Amino acid sequence: MSIDSLPPLRDVIRDHGLSALKSLGQNFLLDLNLTSKIARTAGRLDGLTVIEVGPGPGGLTRAILALGARRVIAIERDARCVAALAEVAAHYPERLEVIEGDALQTDYRALLVPDERAIVIANLPYNVGTPLLVGWLSADPWPPWYESLTLMFQREVAERIVAAPGDDHYGRLAVLTGWRAQAHIAFDVPPSAFVPPPKVTSSVVHIVPRPAPLSCSLKALERVTEAGFGQRRKMLRQSLKSLGVDTGALLEAAGIAPTERAERVTVEGFVALANEWVAMRRAGADQDVSVASS
Ligand code: SAM
Repeated sequence: MSIDSLPPLRDVIRDHGLSALKSLGQNFLLDLNLTSKIARTAGRLDGLTVIEVGPGPGGLTRAILALGARRVIAIERDARCVAALAEVAAHYPERLEVIEGDALQTDYRALLVPDERAIVIANLPYNVGTPLLVGWLSADPWPPWYESLTLMFQREVAERIVAAPGDDHYGRLAVLTGWRAQAHIAFDVPPSAFVPPPKVTSSVVHIVPRPAPLSCSLKALERVTEAGFGQRRKMLRQSLKSLGVDTGALLEAAGIAPTERAERVTVEGFVALANEWVAMRRAGADQDVSVASS
């Protein structure tokens, strides 16, 4: 049974000449049971505002609307898809707004009424998935403008998002995600579910922001994880040298063994490193000032 009385997605694609463009990461989902499963992963939608990135021919958009979202704001770069979505907008009057634009350049907070928080659901274009996620996790102010993110990534990227210390995929993305949010892989989607099929398996990841992450400067956290994972197999007393402070003292202050490697340090450990690094640099700058003025 169809979720709405709109034409099958194959007809939409044919009628609007939506040949998939690799440059826009276009791998479309045509099975409305699958798009409904993705939309349901986000939780209750009725009465809520959903932001969708890259609606394409509208398979996921239709599922989100059928599940009762009050308002869907869909951002799409491809003008051909924007035209194809007009029929969906007409079927759900006043509920679907399609913006032709680049999701990387979008001011999401400006799309919402003050204090409103959106649910984000997207089958992301693979070429911009990671930068989009990093931008959303770096939102300022925090808590962010979204209540949750339900996103399709390549399986390998999904593993880098949810990895724990000691996992092969543990790195900067897992530390940023773990600091600001809780994330898990909801389910995998085989290449055969997409048109055209990508080369690899995909995964739907569900991410819920922490209301109060451990206190830490984002820039400092980025800097220490960049240094640590830049030489992930080296001991931290060596890999952190580019931070320009006494690495032995830094690691001791953060309560981490100098022989430890980045791939085994917890999110809490990196937050401690970032905070101690800021404190040491501040103390160093104060000393410079007092030497200069004496
Ligand atoms: N949601 C549709 C589906 O599941 O069938 C399409 C998903 S397809 C993987 C990614 C979509 O994102 C495409 O429609 C593509 O045109 C769009 N897109 C690519 N880059 C974009 C960007 N920077 N901003 C907004 N949309 C983009």
